[in-house]
Amino acid sequence: MVEIREIKKIQETEKASIHSHITGLGLDEHGKAKFIADGMVGQAEAREAAGLIVQLVKQGKMAGKGILFVGPPGTGKTALAIAIAKELGEGTPFTAINATELYSTELKKTELLTQVIRKSIGVRIRQKRLVYEGVVKELRVKVAKSRLNPYYQVPREAEITLKTKDDELKITAGESVAEQLYKLGIRKGDVIWIDAQTGEIVKEGKAKEEAKYEVGGGKLVDTPSGPVKKEKELTSTFTLNDLDLNLAAQSISFTAIFSLWTEREISDDIRKQVDRLVKDMISRGEGELIPGVLFIDDAHMLDIEAFSFLTKALESELSPIVILATNRGMTKIRGTDIESPHGIPLDLLDRLLIIPTRPYNENEIKEIIKIRAEEIGVELDPQALEDLTKIGIENSLRYSIQLLEPANLIALRNNRNVIKSEDVNEANKYFADIKRSIKYVKEYENLMLK
Ligand code: ATP
Repeated sequence: MVEIREIKKIQETEKASIHSHITGLGLDEHGKAKFIADGMVGQAEAREAAGLIVQLVKQGKMAGKGILFVGPPGTGKTALAIAIAKELGEGTPFTAINATELYSTELKKTELLTQVIRKSIGVRIRQKRLVYEGVVKELRVKVAKSRLNPYYQVPREAEITLKTKDDELKITAGESVAEQLYKLGIRKGDVIWIDAQTGEIVKEGKAKEEAKYEVGGGKLVDTPSGPVKKEKELTSTFTLNDLDLNLAAQSISFTAIFSLWTEREISDDIRKQVDRLVKDMISRGEGELIPGVLFIDDAHMLDIEAFSFLTKALESELSPIVILATNRGMTKIRGTDIESPHGIPLDLLDRLLIIPTRPYNENEIKEIIKIRAEEIGVELDPQALEDLTKIGIENSLRYSIQLLEPANLIALRNNRNVIKSEDVNEANKYFADIKRSIKYVKEYENLMLK
């Protein structure tokens, strides 16, 4: 029997964190979009269309079909895709790639596509394990002098001490364990289990919402449950790609592991074994499949081969929900001389439900900035919010959101907890948005090209 252990994934911090405020589509019980809900603002028609898709997926009626978001850059296509994954329930895998990534690695593009597809299919496994149960009694998170949400900056600067109630089982986490705890989402007060055989720390469920913004140290309240050794059924979610890597790492020699990690190609044989293993677990009632979401931005950059691979994948038994996004109209299908809507071959287009997204207005931009500021734990005075909104309209929403962090640092340097207009302006002076950087290059073209 192959043992299943979690292999740590490299976290896609940037992608995950910039959209971390999104918890769903924010629809009411009739499927209508509330102006602001679940971290989503405006874009009502697209959110409502996405809501219908979620229902279709839940009813198993999206098999063989995909979704295409069409709209200008920065109109929330990625945000919507994430919201769909959230609506599909906790543990739904979400993978986002830009189509150009397929062409920027040494891996074959079909191998990379297979990997991202398998990253987007989850397996929930129930395993019986002998564990010690304990409560995290003390948890300190040291954050650099800043008011930012600690979970945003860590893990690099995290220092976590973990003690269970029973002295004999005292664990003071070293740095790597601290990181591990952190990634597991263990927060103070959480109940954890320590595997009686391996000493591995396991945790079930999600971090408590109310602990989300806590900064700094402090002892935790004792809870009555001391560490007890017992058998517990634990549920863990893996992606098919996790299992592939896992099995590959177990079934090959050390040198082979090294080449596995450098080349990162997984053999068909391994994948077949994993599929068999998963099917067996499902038939024994020990596991279930969770189809996730694969989001491919700039889909017009995919070439004809990638498109036919995806079309086939959509039809296969094990397929994630594929969401493509583009901002192109009629354009050539890459790798051919054929023009097609959005640069996508007609046979694939036929299988896609198309959802348009439109640019945001001033009020929507303002509300999104407010949500982001709250999410990363920074405070804006009214004029600073106005300034950022204006920057959002004139340049881009993403740029104005990116200014939040530097503006906060500038405010802190001036011993203020609230970002003022002057901080926004200073931050805006330091960094160039796209328009300004192009202007700069033009101005200095002669010098730069020499
Ligand atoms: P696209 O994929 O269309 O380029 P995006 O989702 O990447 O757009 P950005 O303009 O990069 O959108 O988004 C900037 C920030 O605004 C991100 O934090 C994103 O989550 C957030 N955002 C975008 N649209 C919405 C929305 N409708 N409601 C709430 N937040 C949004």
